[in-house]
Amino acid sequence: MGPPSRPRSRDSSGAGKRPVRGSSPNIDSRRSNRIPASSSFAKPSSSPAGGTSLNTPDRRMKVKESSSPSEDIAAEIVVWTGDTMDVDVPESPTSAPPEMLDIADVAAEDMKMEPGVSPSSSPLSQPASSPSMQPESLPTEVPPPLSLDVPSAPQLEPTTPLQHDPPPPTPPLSPPAPASAVVISQTVENDVAPKAEGSSSSVSLASEHSDLSPALSSVSSKATTPVDNESSKEGMAPPAAQPASQIKDKPRRRYDVRPKVSIPPDLPLYEYATQCISGAEASRLNPYALHPEEYSMLRDHISHTQVTTYLNIRNGILRLWVRNPQIAVTRDEAVGCAKDSRWFDVASLSFDWLVRRGYINFGCVEIRSSRKPVPEGPSTRRKQKTIVVIGAGMSGLGCARQLEGLFKQYSRKFREMGEEPARVVVLEGRSRVGGRVYSRAFTTKPKQVPPHFDGKRYTAEMGGMIITGFDRGNPINILLRGQLGLDYHKLNPDMTIFDSNGKPVDFVRDQMVEKLYNDCLERVSEYKFQQPTSKLIEGNRDLIDEGRDSSAETHRTIRQAEEAAAAQPYAAPVSEQNMAPQVHLVPVSSDRATGKVHTEPGTPGAQKAAHRVRDIGWPLKHGVSDDADLEIDSLTKEPNATLGSVIDKIIPQYRDLVDFTAQDFRLMNWHVANLEYSNATNYNQMSLRGWDIDAGNEWEGAHTMVVGGYQSVPRGLAMLPTPLNLKQKSPVQKITYSPDNTGKATVECEDGYKVEADYVVNTIPLGVLKHGNVQFDPPLPSWKADAISRLGFGVLNKVILVYREAFWNENRDIFGVLRMPSSRHSLEQKDYSSQRGRFFQWFNISKPSGLPVLLALMAGDAGYDTEQSCNDDLVAEATEVLRSVYGSRVPKQPVEAVVTRWASDKFARGSYSSAGPNMEADDYDTMARPIGNLYFAGEHTSGTHPATVHGAYLSGLRAASEVLDAMLGPIEIPTPLIVPKDHSSLKRKASGGNQKDGSLEARLRQYEIDMWDHIVSLIDRRPAMPAKPASNAYIFFSKSNYDRARRKLEEGRRPGKGKPSANEVRVMSAKMWKETTEEEKRPFVEMVEEQKRAYAERMEEWKKLGEEWDGKATELRLKYEREHPVPKAEEVGENNKRRKAAAGVESYAEEEEEEEEEEEDEGEGEDVVMER
Ligand SMILES: Cc1cc2nc3c(=O)[nH]c(=O)nc-3n(C[C@H](O)[C@H](O)[C@H](O)COP(=O)(O)OP(=O)(O)OC[C@H]3O[C@@H](n4cnc5c(N)ncnc54)[C@H](O)[C@@H]3O)c2cc1C
Repeated sequence: MGPPSRPRSRDSSGAGKRPVRGSSPNIDSRRSNRIPASSSFAKPSSSPAGGTSLNTPDRRMKVKESSSPSEDIAAEIVVWTGDTMDVDVPESPTSAPPEMLDIADVAAEDMKMEPGVSPSSSPLSQPASSPSMQPESLPTEVPPPLSLDVPSAPQLEPTTPLQHDPPPPTPPLSPPAPASAVVISQTVENDVAPKAEGSSSSVSLASEHSDLSPALSSVSSKATTPVDNESSKEGMAPPAAQPASQIKDKPRRRYDVRPKVSIPPDLPLYEYATQCISGAEASRLNPYALHPEEYSMLRDHISHTQVTTYLNIRNGILRLWVRNPQIAVTRDEAVGCAKDSRWFDVASLSFDWLVRRGYINFGCVEIRSSRKPVPEGPSTRRKQKTIVVIGAGMSGLGCARQLEGLFKQYSRKFREMGEEPARVVVLEGRSRVGGRVYSRAFTTKPKQVPPHFDGKRYTAEMGGMIITGFDRGNPINILLRGQLGLDYHKLNPDMTIFDSNGKPVDFVRDQMVEKLYNDCLERVSEYKFQQPTSKLIEGNRDLIDEGRDSSAETHRTIRQAEEAAAAQPYAAPVSEQNMAPQVHLVPVSSDRATGKVHTEPGTPGAQKAAHRVRDIGWPLKHGVSDDADLEIDSLTKEPNATLGSVIDKIIPQYRDLVDFTAQDFRLMNWHVANLEYSNATNYNQMSLRGWDIDAGNEWEGAHTMVVGGYQSVPRGLAMLPTPLNLKQKSPVQKITYSPDNTGKATVECEDGYKVEADYVVNTIPLGVLKHGNVQFDPPLPSWKADAISRLGFGVLNKVILVYREAFWNENRDIFGVLRMPSSRHSLEQKDYSSQRGRFFQWFNISKPSGLPVLLALMAGDAGYDTEQSCNDDLVAEATEVLRSVYGSRVPKQPVEAVVTRWASDKFARGSYSSAGPNMEADDYDTMARPIGNLYFAGEHTSGTHPATVHGAYLSGLRAASEVLDAMLGPIEIPTPLIVPKDHSSLKRKASGGNQKDGSLEARLRQYEIDMWDHIVSLIDRRPAMPAKPASNAYIFFSKSNYDRARRKLEEGRRPGKGKPSANEVRVMSAKMWKETTEEEKRPFVEMVEEQKRAYAERMEEWKKLGEEWDGKATELRLKYEREHPVPKAEEVGENNKRRKAAAGVESYAEEEEEEEEEEEDEGEGEDVVMER
């Protein structure tokens, strides 16, 4: 598990520094003003939540089973005690006795509404007045960082536009622009520009590639290599570089923005760059390289050298978003990330792409409407399209909320097409939202509210529970911490595994077996599907790190350069150029809390088995040589080989090499159970080739749970900023769709309710699709139906026990228990499979639940058994397992218990998807692919993050993006995208004081350039900041031990495995570092200290020189300003009037638009529009 996520300060933009003379807040600082000074969005619940005293006399237990088979996690039980104790029995909200609480009522209570009441009449339907956007039924306690600096600013007031103060002049020492000289207009809407006649529309993958989904869903969250989605599309749109004379023919969007207004002027550039890079990383995008779609979109329009500038702008937009996702980024703000007005259209294009693909402006965020009147379309009574989203789980709600936001942002475009923005209807079968995210409220309540639990619900997670890190792009981070401000609890990763006799397993033995297990996984990973190699179009890393754009101008577009290279004799074709090297991801460790395997780039099974196990610390059996190896190849070739069938036969082979005891078998099988937990199935049902198809996409940061219930997130999505049009208790039974997009779709519910739709997004879980009781008309084509049957969908269940008081270690969140095989002391692997997953992993969920609660997992075969087992037996077995560890302190019965049975739930039919034995590499992408007007979302459509809450949510964003593309067409690209430097209007601007028709902005810019040239000619440039030295002793260690690490890897290497890769050496060095004593580390630590001392001295010196230089520069500047008056707005106004009168002077904006602007600006007394 990674380190806890460190709060990042939003104040690092230089807040607190002395304001620059003449400057006023720019866009960036306005965004920052609405956010907390220190910001990791929200803090985890810090105090123990289980502070209740529940110690009263024991009571007899009544065990009741829900008599009617519930549709919602079928047949739960509630165990209840009857007489007085400190556990409070609330007045039942329903007429049913507490132990018979009807699930439907519980669900209605979840939504804080009476059963049958529509969401719009519920308290949740009120727009949140709290800036934290907390729905009323959500926990009321907002963690401190979410309280805004401007407490009265109602973030969700639909009519509150973001007011921008006049932005400051950009450079710190820039001339004092008159305060009113530049006004950031509020009137540019986040709409796309009117389709330009003859403009290139080659941007969309939808037009270039048969399917958009795979490209989107297969992108690694690790911000590494984009997957190549383009092979030979040599016949795409014409090159971007066009003669300047053509430019005037293209109507172009006009931006009332100055360059750099979204870049804080008082933030050092390198710090700004760091924030931009973090912004991209926090959005699952590679800060240094184009996403495949960006590549397709831009390759005809920009050159390789211009990629750097594009990436700086795109990362800058992402920076704005992640720094405050409570406010949508506007087009103006995005455009203000460009440092040069020639790049405005590029910034606008990047904005469109980021918005449409759900990288920015997603979730529970208010989208501000345009203040500009929307033009009337062709007809007065406009038609309105309908999108039906089936399912109100994370994917369905995510999709519906995203569509609402997109329709608002592109409302202008809809109206231009003569339509009202479309309406979205969500149909949900259950009487609650959240689907497999279900925080079921306990009947038991504590007498005293635990600290920090005020207003929260006492719940346990029946389904989705753990957030596997907020860092590196988890969208749940934005929703949960950035927008909803929910409280969460960090899971302590330390855990003890208890043997079946209740004794803790020896730590060293535990580690040795775990390493052997990981070695086993690494060996089989050689047989995995090969990930497709990727096209890697990178910018200049050094420039991006420093926040600088590329100054080189090449006029050859990426495509032209690629084609020119391909034309060379013996050159690689375009599709093979710039390919990232093939990376093999090798399992290195397993996450104990989730069973997920962590991978690193490396060479699978590089070393001979005997050599490796000895390296791990196992003594080899007498007579076994270092050269001894395992036989795996033949196992993988057996018919119907699965992950389980192969590993089951590898484990016994280790017995030939080392002494493997029955306890080692139990430990090994505990890890197998953990793997079966993360896949919700026995590993004999998992594909050997695809079992970790999502490898490399893990988030970083601590694992967490939401205090008071994860379901607050889907509820937030349903209700904020305004309630979705959601119809609950509406099970869909038939979907009629149009595979060739020629007609409408109809969705029919079980109660006869029918909705006609233009587009349908189906998020019905894979288990339900497999079950086949939802009818499709026409039936799904075989390519889809086959993928449905090939992918796996298994079951994980939970047994949840509430006690009066904790008898376990309250400082630990997780513990494991080894289970005895069917035949005691067996050394046969097959004997372990039925028992290993029974109550093997326990979570102490007291802190997120607010009550003393333990939650046990039933994984693999045990998950299926739970569906058939009787509640009493399960509770009795759980008690027996607990007593083996905690002895007689464990009460005979808990005060309340809940058992899940997800496979019996008619709206889930299981827990989550997995790689079925016969899966094909692209099955998840196939699941995502639309058929005509029928679209698909859900965790089972996410190849990068299947079986997760975040994967489900991301799939919803993807489906929304696909629907919008189908409605509006691809993103339009003006041609040329970047105005050539030598274009006449730019020349006019560059002529500064002499120009007769330049805007104020252009003249100020030229003034600035001239002044700086003058200053630099007298005192040279400001001294450069010293480079930061390595501050980590490990870096010195790894450098001096590189050869030793490589030699170690070469020992015992299997033939044909090549030389150790740099990454393998790195991993080995890290291992050696871990094993190094403090004494041995000391010289390296001293080297770091020495470096730091020297660096501090250099910094001191640099600061001194810098201050001296600033002083001189200020003097020179003042002198210059006295000698050369700063251009004034009035002069420019005059110039513009003259320019208007002069014939033949063109601008990039359409003439009509320009006149309209002039009228709008009338009365403001300023010509503020940036000429392009
Ligand atoms: C026991 C368990 C533990 C889990 N643990 C984790 C975890 O720790 N971390 C994690 O990230 N993920 C976890 N998951 C997975 C995660 O919960 C799911 O991947 C995710 O919630 C799926 O969201 P979805 O929108 O794809 O599907 P769902 O949430 O199932 O949404 C689909 C919706 O469609 C509705 N529906 C179904 N059929 C119909 C119909 N015919 N008509 C109308 N509506 C219908 C359903 O009621 C449901 O609301 C767990 C899941 C389970 C079951």
